[in-house]
Amino acid sequence: MAKLIDGKAIAAQIRDEVAQETQALKSCGVTPGLAVVLVGEDPASCTYVRNKQKACADAGIYAEQITLPATTTQEELLRVVQELNARADIHGILCQLPLPAHLDDKAVIAAISPEKDVDAFHAVNVGHILIGDEGFQPCTPAGVMEMLTRSGIAVEGKSCVVIGRSNIVGKPMAMLLLHANGTVTICHSRTVDLAAVCRGADILVAAIGKAKFVTADMVKPGAVVIDVGINRDENGKLCGDVDFAAVEPIAGAITPVPGGVGPMTIAMLLKNTLTAAHRQTGK
Ligand code: NDP
Repeated sequence: MAKLIDGKAIAAQIRDEVAQETQALKSCGVTPGLAVVLVGEDPASCTYVRNKQKACADAGIYAEQITLPATTTQEELLRVVQELNARADIHGILCQLPLPAHLDDKAVIAAISPEKDVDAFHAVNVGHILIGDEGFQPCTPAGVMEMLTRSGIAVEGKSCVVIGRSNIVGKPMAMLLLHANGTVTICHSRTVDLAAVCRGADILVAAIGKAKFVTADMVKPGAVVIDVGINRDENGKLCGDVDFAAVEPIAGAITPVPGGVGPMTIAMLLKNTLTAAHRQTGK
C-alpha cells in the first residue's frame, strides 16, 4: 500500500506559515494585496476564485475580486490590468483562465507587470524559471515540489516522467524537477509507447486532463505518483488523471484527488503574493 501524500495537511502548514509572515509584514505597515480578475461566469473558474479569496482572507491577505462580464472587450480587460499594475496596495494580479474565446490570454498575461505576476505565467518569469533564478515559482509545479520536499522524497538522481507539456503545468514542472537534479522526460500526446516510458519513472507526474488515464501497467512498483489532474468521472465525481484504486497498491507514495495537488496550488499562490509584497515594499 502506498504512502498517502496529504496535500491538504501540507497546504495547511504552508498557509499557517504565510499567515504568520503576513502578520509580521502588517506590523511593518504593509498588507499584502492580491487582485483576482474573473471574466464571465464559468462555474469552475467561479469556484477557484472563491477558494482563492477565502484562502487569502484566512491568511490575512487583502483580496480584491474584479468580476467582468463575458462580453468584456480586450481593450477593457487590458485597461483593468493596467490600473491594477499602477496600484500600490495590490502586489499580486492574476487573471483566472480560461478567458472567453474572443479574448487573447497571451496578451493579457503579457500586460501584467512581471513583479505582480503571482501565477508566474509572464514570459519574463518563465525565463527566470528556465534559468533557475529566484523568481516567482509557478503555483502548481511549485506546490508539487513543496509536497515532495515536505514528504521527505528526494528528487536528485531520480528518473522523473511528466505527462503533459502545457505552459502552466507540464513544462514548468519539468524545469523544477530538473533544477532539483532529477533526470526528466516530458511526455505528450505524440509520445510513442507512453506506458513503457512511464514505467521507467521513479517519480511520475500526471498533468493530462483525462480522468483515470494513468493505469497500473504504467507505474513501476514503489514509484512516487503525483496526480495534478482535476476531472469528473463517469458518475460526475471529482477524480484525477490517475486511476487511484488501481495504482495505489503498486505505488510507493501517491497523491489523492481531491486533497492532493489542488490545495497546494492555492497555498503557493498565497506564498507568491507575500513574496511580491516583500519585494515591492522592500520590507
Ligand atoms: P492541457 O490540456 O493544457 O495539457 C494537457 C497535456 O496532456 C498536453 O500536453 C497533452 O499533449 C497531454 N496529453 C493529452 N492527451 C494525452 C495522451 N493521450 N497521452 C499523453 N499525453 C496526453 O492541460 P493543463 O496542463 O492545463 O492541465 C492538466 C490537468 O491538470 C487538467 O486536469 C487540469 O484541470 C489540471 N490542473 C490542476 C491544477 C491543480 O491545482 N491541481 C492546476 C492546473 C491544472 P499535447 O501537448 O501533445 O496535446
